[in-house]
Amino acid sequence: MFSEIVGNKQAQEVLRRMLAQGRVPGAMIFAGPEGVGKKLYALELARVLNCDARHGDEACGECPACKRIWRLSLSTADDQEAAKQIIWSGHRDVGLIRPAARFIVVDQVRELERETNFRPHEGARRVFIIDDADRLNESASNALLKTLEEAPPTTLLILITARPSGLLATIRSRCQIVRFAPLPAAEVEEFLVSRYKRSGAEASLAARLARGSIGRALELNIDAYREQRESMLGVIEALIAGGGGDRERLLRAAEELTDAKRKDEYEPRLDALQTLLRDVWLLTLRTPGAELINEDARERLARLSAGVESRRAAAWISQIEELRQQLGVNINRRVATDALFLSMAAA
Ligand SMILES: [Zn+2]
Repeated sequence: MFSEIVGNKQAQEVLRRMLAQGRVPGAMIFAGPEGVGKKLYALELARVLNCDARHGDEACGECPACKRIWRLSLSTADDQEAAKQIIWSGHRDVGLIRPAARFIVVDQVRELERETNFRPHEGARRVFIIDDADRLNESASNALLKTLEEAPPTTLLILITARPSGLLATIRSRCQIVRFAPLPAAEVEEFLVSRYKRSGAEASLAARLARGSIGRALELNIDAYREQRESMLGVIEALIAGGGGDRERLLRAAEELTDAKRKDEYEPRLDALQTLLRDVWLLTLRTPGAELINEDARERLARLSAGVESRRAAAWISQIEELRQQLGVNINRRVATDALFLSMAAA
């Protein structure tokens, strides 16, 4: 039921109004960041439209149609072979396509086009979700455009994307856009405590790290984060040691950070360092009531930031951002990290 989905009440209101007025368009774009509920809302809309015991603008959630449609929410992201075709829910009128590899390709859209032409098999509306729609390649985009023009009014296409600008303008103009926003940290925290029984301290840290995405909050491993954070606090200590940094300790930290045995830890650790430096920077500004991401480490961060000028903390953050932009390119991490830490010390 809509009333059970957390966050984005404004988008929910838009959908409810469409349902109440019986004016759900033939094509929509759900646009907004990853992990804020776009797909859940799309599935819920498919349920309301096909529920056997609908109450106004709410699906019952209990009838066979509702239950079978919901199975799509459990479909996993890693079966590439299955993803080359329409992934059906348990309901014959509700399915989804998404990139099987890098792109959604024209064969997928052609299959979709065939299906959109059928009348509903058992429900009232055929609903097709196109996940990561900004990854339609050129020929698939053109095929979709044709589908959008020709689909009968009993079909609903919902394009889900975090980058609506990646869609053809001609596709965008044929769809009604519903916008989704990041969730406030308090909402994410409340959700983690009430639905997932996370402890208060853990939920609150996860919520602040998740940048408004419930999806990200659920994926986070807080114990792992705390460990990463601990080692990155050591880097900050080394940066401020003696005023200009402890060179030897920084180079040791760079060596440890780029250890080939922990290749996958590299970026999460840089992430952790960045959140810590953001907090240090906030503390140097001495704004009353400023909320830290690492609120649970406030005392330690306050001690560290006491000897740092805000100009220096801001420079550190941009230096890390610069390095992270280069990570996409093939750089030698060890050399780049040595250089990063030494130039941070000199900042
Ligand atoms: Zn139902």
